[in-house]
Amino acid sequence: MPLVSIGEELKRAQAGGYALPLFDTADVQSTEGMIQALEDRKAPAMIALYSGALERPNGRAMAAYIRTRAEEASVPISLMLDHGSSFENVMHAIAAGFTDVMYDGSSLPFEENVAQTKAVVRAAHAVGLCVEAELGHVGSGSDYQSFGALRKGFTDPDTVERFVSETGVDFLAIAIGTAHGLYEGDPEIDLDLLRVIRARLDIPLVLHGGSGCSDAQFRATIENGISKINVATDLFRAAGVSVAEAGKGGEASYWAFSRAATEAFRERVSYYVDLFGASGKAH
Ligand SMILES: [Zn+2]
Repeated sequence: MPLVSIGEELKRAQAGGYALPLFDTADVQSTEGMIQALEDRKAPAMIALYSGALERPNGRAMAAYIRTRAEEASVPISLMLDHGSSFENVMHAIAAGFTDVMYDGSSLPFEENVAQTKAVVRAAHAVGLCVEAELGHVGSGSDYQSFGALRKGFTDPDTVERFVSETGVDFLAIAIGTAHGLYEGDPEIDLDLLRVIRARLDIPLVLHGGSGCSDAQFRATIENGISKINVATDLFRAAGVSVAEAGKGGEASYWAFSRAATEAFRERVSYYVDLFGASGKAH
């Protein structure tokens, strides 16, 4: 089963009441752990490069590597751009062979977010990619007490229908109380807001800032209409702990570090695909 654009798989997830994960990758060790887990669990997923990672000197080579591994995989895998930062950044992803893109105009005023997202959608659809956009703004967990707890940046449900119809976007990331990175305090997710937004749209909804949510919170967001969940921080933290552990006692072996990192990614990815109900969903 090859590299895919994830649209059909996400529609199936939405209809089936489960969620597909997006995992940000950084290198060979993280990618191999992810692919091992997805094949083992027979789960479709998105493997992503962050916008900044694509612009590094090795960005195109990393994309080519992930593409090749996805083409060889036994489960559907999308290569997705995470938090595309500009029209140009998205065009770089298209030229590098990505199969889906997120464009993040969530820090812009509403009308500007609409205009930029619409331009990205037009270009990406012309070559068969799906586009995710963000409405409302998912902030950083380290500032959580100054925005999440105060509901700053939460998606305004009265704007979602207009945003989706004017942009033609395929999936929508919404801000309902999660945050990127590690949380200062505990996340509080507004499920009522999620239900209101879900009732007004028919496209898959996306939750960013998965690291730090409890299992019960993940299940509740999926039950109330989230179909795609992004996870990054937790995977890298777990791998960091495993690598540090592999360095304790004995001689420092590069191969032991490398194996520990891959194994940590494999374990955490398996955990999330099981939790999200994505295991066994590869057709
Ligand atoms: Zn994100």
